[in-house]
Amino acid sequence: MEYLDEILHDHSFNIQLKSQQKECLAHLLNGTNVFAMLPTGFGKSLIYTLFPLIQKKMTGSRKTSLVVSPLRALMIDQVIRLEKHDVKAAYMTKDTPPGMMEDIKKGFVDIIFLSPEMLRSVKIDVLKCHQSQISLLVFDECHCISEWGLDFRPDYRKVSDIVSLFSDIPTLLLSATATMSVQNDLYNLLALDEENTRVVAKLPDRPNVFIHVEQQPCSQNHEIQLQWIINMVSELQSTTPKTIVYCQNLRQCETLYIWLMEELESLAYLNGVVNIKNRMIEMYHSRTDESSMHRILSDFKNSESTIKIIFATVAFGLGIDIPNISIVVCWGVSSSAMTFWQELGRCARNGSDGYTYTYPYARSLSLCSDKKMKDLIKEKGCLRNHILSLFILDGMDEDLPTSSACDVNECDVCKCQMCRCCSNCKMKCCCKGKDLVNHLTKYHTTS
Ligand SMILES: [Zn+2]
Ligand SMILES: [Zn+2]
Ligand SMILES: [Zn+2]
Repeated sequence: MEYLDEILHDHSFNIQLKSQQKECLAHLLNGTNVFAMLPTGFGKSLIYTLFPLIQKKMTGSRKTSLVVSPLRALMIDQVIRLEKHDVKAAYMTKDTPPGMMEDIKKGFVDIIFLSPEMLRSVKIDVLKCHQSQISLLVFDECHCISEWGLDFRPDYRKVSDIVSLFSDIPTLLLSATATMSVQNDLYNLLALDEENTRVVAKLPDRPNVFIHVEQQPCSQNHEIQLQWIINMVSELQSTTPKTIVYCQNLRQCETLYIWLMEELESLAYLNGVVNIKNRMIEMYHSRTDESSMHRILSDFKNSESTIKIIFATVAFGLGIDIPNISIVVCWGVSSSAMTFWQELGRCARNGSDGYTYTYPYARSLSLCSDKKMKDLIKEKGCLRNHILSLFILDGMDEDLPTSSACDVNECDVCKCQMCRCCSNCKMKCCCKGKDLVNHLTKYHTTS
């Protein structure tokens, strides 16, 4: 890729491409489809950003990536971000500004973002006009096609129409978390030929995040189980680590929120000043009104946020990228192993130490219909390996990580890989994870 350095420089991308990004580009330039499973924050979008720019250098005429993306807010962010790099991008949604639509019609753009709903609308004719210019078809967060398609966004499964329209250009599938069954589903749905599709993947491990699953049977009494949160906030106050507590439904979210607020009283407010601006505890779910959602998110994003603890449902999810969340608590088991890993994935994105605590109380287990999630809870070996094994795709060559125990059993605070991995590994270390600094052991008093 002779033009690569020149393009990176011209568009002020001040970075060195990672080997996986280069590998994807090389396959695509060969006309091969790519299924790329790479972690959040890896720079997946750079692949479809650079591809048309390289082709433009090679052919002398403008080329365009067509990116199907599930989230409108993300598309808008991307368009603004790319503008700073002198890359012309536009989005086609229900509310595309007229000027932007004109640019698309005239073929003046390098990247077109498209919502799945648009795939069925008449605007697709606009794309037909530029069939020869569009040189890459991309499905961002492609696992959504498989996960959501059946129920709440049926349009997502209509994607095969657009695939047939652009059958002679390569397809790029992007995801941070996909399983082999998702992969097979997508290959079928998009009529992708396995022979002509390369997998470029990195297991979505989060080595800096400790995984604790409370032992079975686990009580549903939050006053006892989550008492450590009261102790932690009381003691640490404004230095309380940022925490999300995932609840299984809205009612539970409210119950836990009210409980914690009542227990903490004025300690739930910064400096004890009782005032909504100082409240360190919040709730976030599908019925949170839009202005509160906005207020909560914009505060929580700050490195020095006032809000420290959010009780949330899955509504607090896709598209939320906050680097310094230190603790993720799952109160009850998540609906699927995939959802669990996505929730865990919001922890410690900045690479610092993160902790997840899961409470698989009986009722949540009986409501969970995902066998893989239930198997995970029963696992006696390494929890991390168990879940990562679900992400091994067909055509991928990467082994599961192995951890080794400390070889002395006199360490004061064991920080060996076993003790930093998960609650099961920790108990198997010769020092039994002695005094591993962990919120449960530190703040959980049994009086
Ligand atoms: Zn482990
Ligand atoms: Zn040790
Ligand atoms: Zn150890």
